[in-house]
Amino acid sequence: MTSLRAVKGMNDVLPEEMPRWHFVERTYAETMRRHGYREVRTPYVEPTGLFVRTVGETTDIVEKEMYSFVYQGEELTLRPEGTAGAARAYVEHSVHGREGISRWYYVGPMFRGERPQRGRYRQFYQLGAEIFGDAGPGCDAEMIDMLVGFLRELGIGDAEVLVNSIGGSDTRERFKQALVQYLEPRKAKLTADSQRRLGTNPLRILDSKAEEDQAAIAEAPTVLEFLAPEDRAHFDKLEAFLKALGTPYRVEPRLVRGLDYYTRTLFEIKGAKAKLGAGDTLLGGGRYDNMVGDLGGGSVPALGFAAGLERLLIASEASPPPSAPPVYVAALGDAACSAALVLARDLRKSGLSAEGDARGGSLKSQLRRANTLGARFALVVGESELARGVVQAKDLGAHAQEEVSRDRVHEWITARMTSPEGSAS
Ligand code: AMP
Repeated sequence: MTSLRAVKGMNDVLPEEMPRWHFVERTYAETMRRHGYREVRTPYVEPTGLFVRTVGETTDIVEKEMYSFVYQGEELTLRPEGTAGAARAYVEHSVHGREGISRWYYVGPMFRGERPQRGRYRQFYQLGAEIFGDAGPGCDAEMIDMLVGFLRELGIGDAEVLVNSIGGSDTRERFKQALVQYLEPRKAKLTADSQRRLGTNPLRILDSKAEEDQAAIAEAPTVLEFLAPEDRAHFDKLEAFLKALGTPYRVEPRLVRGLDYYTRTLFEIKGAKAKLGAGDTLLGGGRYDNMVGDLGGGSVPALGFAAGLERLLIASEASPPPSAPPVYVAALGDAACSAALVLARDLRKSGLSAEGDARGGSLKSQLRRANTLGARFALVVGESELARGVVQAKDLGAHAQEEVSRDRVHEWITARMTSPEGSAS
């Protein structure tokens, strides 16, 4: 029989890894709360057409990375990113009619059939957020500044913020023409992929990592030279706000990003290069002022970002605060087994984490189990303790033992818990 293994590029996250995941997720949820974002959950599966229309037919994601399938006649796709689904939900539930400005966030798995490597997987998790209904560059600057603060809280100190603007449709059209004009005579030097893109989606060429393409575009015109006056004004204000907030950033006129829906502001934050290598983009985002309109929701400007959770975990130097170890209740003898289960349940009711062992066995084997669990306290109940309404309470950290009355156990544990391990008498 062939052994069944996880699908290539899709990872198990085992319980011992979860404290770091929870730490990042909690820090994120707390950041979101302080900034007035509310969580949204949208399906992992969406109509394929949603991504074709928003992410763009000629992007890498839609051309070659989507997990698409037909189910009972419907063309469906495992979501490769979160913005399109959020915008669909926003339009479908007519949220604009109820709220002027909506701030949403999400955390969840995304699916892209990319070549797996460190920090790049086929199922990966994104933390993301969207703001609907605010066109001004103030919220762009605020989002970037918020993200720099969030990364700092995760212990990612070397974050580098890159910003650019690709303007509105006017700017983009004029830039596209100029880019094609520049690249057409150099076509032979481009990779086959980029030669094809010259006719379909020339902006994508700027995103190419191939050396031949990089050489050909090194001197190409940049979009900033073509910004329409209102796009220029928006970008200038963004820079002014970032300066006022003291957020360090660098204008990167070649930044385009891999999705077609962006308008005006684009940004990326890179970091932890030593750990992530070439895949050091921790997060990316920008404006997508036309998406809600394209989905039939009227004219609603929008802005969003997404960060790769696994990349944040690779980059993060912070260690999560340790959680309180469980209390272990050992039972010696049949009658004590029931008492151990009852005692463990009562301790849990008062908020402690507790495990009662009703399997019997020697004290030695039960204390071994307490040790494996990382328990600091073990309560031993035998026939004689049962009869007298007491337990033998062991502070395993302090190597101390005391006989404690059954109804004082909780008090005894909490008193010792708050004193440093080994110092309580
Ligand atoms: P994007 O949705 O392409 O703008 O990506 C936003 C962020 O998601 C990136 O900066 C990465 O941190 C993360 N990301 C994108 N694709 C992957 C992937 N295949 N594996 C892991 N993380 C990813």
